[in-house]
Parts: sequence; structure tokens; C-alpha cells
Amino acid sequence: MAAAAARDRVRYPVNAASKFALCTQCRNHLFPYADFIGHSPPWPGVSQGVACRAAVNVREDDTPRLLHHHRVVNVHCNQCDRHIGERFIEPANVPGLHELQGNYLFHYDKLLYWDGSSLRSSTGEEIIIHENGYLGGAAAPGGL
Ligand SMILES: [Zn+2]
Repeated sequence: MAAAAARDRVRYPVNAASKFALCTQCRNHLFPYADFIGHSPPWPGVSQGVACRAAVNVREDDTPRLLHHHRVVNVHCNQCDRHIGERFIEPANVPGLHELQGNYLFHYDKLLYWDGSSLRSSTGEEIIIHENGYLGGAAAPGGL
């Protein structure tokens, strides 16, 4: 049930000792840097990926599909349901990455990154969370 999933959501502490990735769309917490494996190079038709050993607050499709000859299941954020990555269900041989079987490959541009001091987009832009919940860039206010 969606209500149970929301109630059981894992939340990482937002402080200097904590580093983790979040969903760009709803800011759901997804995985700590401690579970980070590496970046995949971009594949044809696939954005750069972020590989990690474990994830929280995600939902996986039941039916596998092929991603460049690898059997994967699509992974969705369990709060906003956006498709944010894949999990490899068989041994996968991706250039630069090993031991991907059972692990996740998130789409780099669908994550935000809490680095212990600020929230950043995949392009390194600092994200400011306004009081009204608006998620925007750190643009300087016009005029003084
Ligand atoms: Zn989300």
C-alpha cells in the first residue's frame, strides 16, 4: 500500500556526516554514498549511470527487459513513481563497472546529491529549497 510505503520510508540525516542521493522530482532519499560503486559511461540511448549496491524507497517492475543485451528490471521512486534507473538481474559486463549483478544503475540526471553541506544537481548546481517547497537553483536575487 502506498500509505504503508510512505510511513516506512527511510530518511537519512541531513547533516555534515551524511552523504546520499535523492530523487530530483520529489526529493525521496535513495542511497548513501557508502553504497556507491561507480559511474557508467554513457551508452547509446542511455544517459550516464550511477551504480550502487543497495537502494531504499524504490519499487521495481516485475517483468525484466533487455538493456543493451542485459536483463534488467526498471526501478521507480516509490514516492513519485518516476522511472529513475534499472537493476541488473544477471551478470552484466559494462565497461568500467564490474559486479553489477543484483545492483542498481540510476540515471545520473534523475538524482540530486546531498554532499554533507549542500544539495546539488547532476551538473553541480547548488539547489536551494525554499520555504514554500519550491526547488530551484541558487540564482542571486535581482537588485539590492
Ligand atoms: Zn521521486
